[in-house]
Amino acid sequence: MSKPKKPATIVAAAHPELDPAYGSVGPAIWPTDTFEWASPDDKPAFDYSRTVNPNRAMLVRTLAELEGAVGGVVTNSGQAAALLALLRLPTGARVVAPHDCYGGTYRLLEAIERQGKIRCSFVDLTNDEAFDAALQDQLALLWIETPSNPLMRITDIRRRASAGKGRGALTIADNTLASPLRQRPLDLGCDLVLHSTTKILNGHADLFGGALLASDPALVEELEWWSNAAGLNGSAFDSSQIVRGLRTLPLRLDRQEASAARIAEWLSQKPEVQAVYFPGLSSSKAAEIVALQQSGPGFMLSFELRGGKPSADRFVAALDLITLASSLGGFSTLICTPSTMTHRGMSPDAQREAGIAPDLLRMSVGLEDADDLIADLARGFSTLGS
Ligand SMILES: *Cc1c(COP(=O)(O)O)cnc(C)c1O
Repeated sequence: MSKPKKPATIVAAAHPELDPAYGSVGPAIWPTDTFEWASPDDKPAFDYSRTVNPNRAMLVRTLAELEGAVGGVVTNSGQAAALLALLRLPTGARVVAPHDCYGGTYRLLEAIERQGKIRCSFVDLTNDEAFDAALQDQLALLWIETPSNPLMRITDIRRRASAGKGRGALTIADNTLASPLRQRPLDLGCDLVLHSTTKILNGHADLFGGALLASDPALVEELEWWSNAAGLNGSAFDSSQIVRGLRTLPLRLDRQEASAARIAEWLSQKPEVQAVYFPGLSSSKAAEIVALQQSGPGFMLSFELRGGKPSADRFVAALDLITLASSLGGFSTLICTPSTMTHRGMSPDAQREAGIAPDLLRMSVGLEDADDLIADLARGFSTLGS
């Protein structure tokens, strides 16, 4: 085996199976549904695109290389990847998930639990007591999401995955926020890594996609089987677009992260702000764990105003450049109020328990000039009085 390449090289060098017809450098796209057989007994490597497709295979290889996985599956959304992780569980399996996980993950787990298919405990994974209590019984799946969304809480991946293993659990980490360039959960003892490629990996806010990667070949095979059986796989065209997005991931992430760090610092000086949540702030209690498992703070931050929902509403209405929308990782800066947008599926009680206040604002920092972003935020603050 050759020495693992650096991420920038992996994404720049991700070539397709060499184009036999024209030798094109830019990858071709194979949107075909099916492939020709030479004879009835010779199944070709690529036979039907729901099962296997060259563009999807290329994306899987690139993502696996970035995450240090042996392989995995590329799905048609992040949620399809989450569903895939749950499909393989037997009826009655116990799952432990973070109480402040991605809203769509929470909704899916809770609905499947209500149907009686799994038993799920939502716990604060940053709290040792709560975590130990949830680990009393045998466990099938431990779900980790760090930094968490929207509060950027940090879970110690190595410690939690090792405790989960002690209870017989596989551990899955949703690595969407950090990206494989800042955190590699498989290296820290996780069995599965989930991505919404819709976000920073594609980076251009123009498609949906997901991925589930694993380090155990038998697990990869099982995921491939279920994804084909359930029809969750992503399309050739989307896969090709995501590879295109990955080419600039290292550059985009460096820039977006640097701007996020400046903005977080600036926000933390504002008297109108109660709290700033950003993994890179030195005041962060979790800074030690961040230093152990992340090679950078990422491009996401949240901050809490004073004055409840009216403050948040006034603030976002005054913004000119930053868009009120509920996604993340794209080229333009988005802001949202998680309590009424991304996390509206959580009951008010569940939101309170997870610390999602009505005046909490979440930002995905994009590629604009940081000075212009700060000037726009200043417009928001000018509506608050003091
Ligand atoms: C967006 C997101 C998902 C779901 O992905 P989709 O592509 O929207 O289905 C899962 N986890 C996290 C952390 C996300 O941000």
